[in-house]
Amino acid sequence: MPALASWPGLARFLGSLRGTPAPRPRRRSRFTIPPELASEIRGSLDRWGALWSLPGLAEGVTVQFSSRFRSSLGSCSPRSGAIRISTAILQFAPEILEEVLCHEAAHAAVAQLHPGRVRPHGREWAELMRAAGYEPRVRFPIRLPRHP
Ligand SMILES: [Zn+2]
Repeated sequence: MPALASWPGLARFLGSLRGTPAPRPRRRSRFTIPPELASEIRGSLDRWGALWSLPGLAEGVTVQFSSRFRSSLGSCSPRSGAIRISTAILQFAPEILEEVLCHEAAHAAVAQLHPGRVRPHGREWAELMRAAGYEPRVRFPIRLPRHP
């Protein structure tokens, strides 16, 4: 198992959600990242940037949460560095969020390290995932709730 950073801010945030009814996802609502979670995300991006010899990685990407995903957990536009993560992920363990974030950040990193055409989940991407301590995988063994 990879060594996972602990995200106490996320754990506290998830704890604060327990007992409160889940807000109905609104179509155009934009999820605001709690400040503690934002700083943990930033910390992870800094760590991977150092690992991948891309110290500017954190400045080169934006991370947004969205309730509009249907079947995937996240996406990345490698050229713009725009990472979007499904809010559905917040009901799972923080490790899943961290791995999905790493997965998407690695796409952005590959675009910077290997400009030109490389396969999205090819060797270059897989190498970055392994360097971060993850077995590269594209599917996650979790079930997303069905949308009405
Ligand atoms: Zn991917």
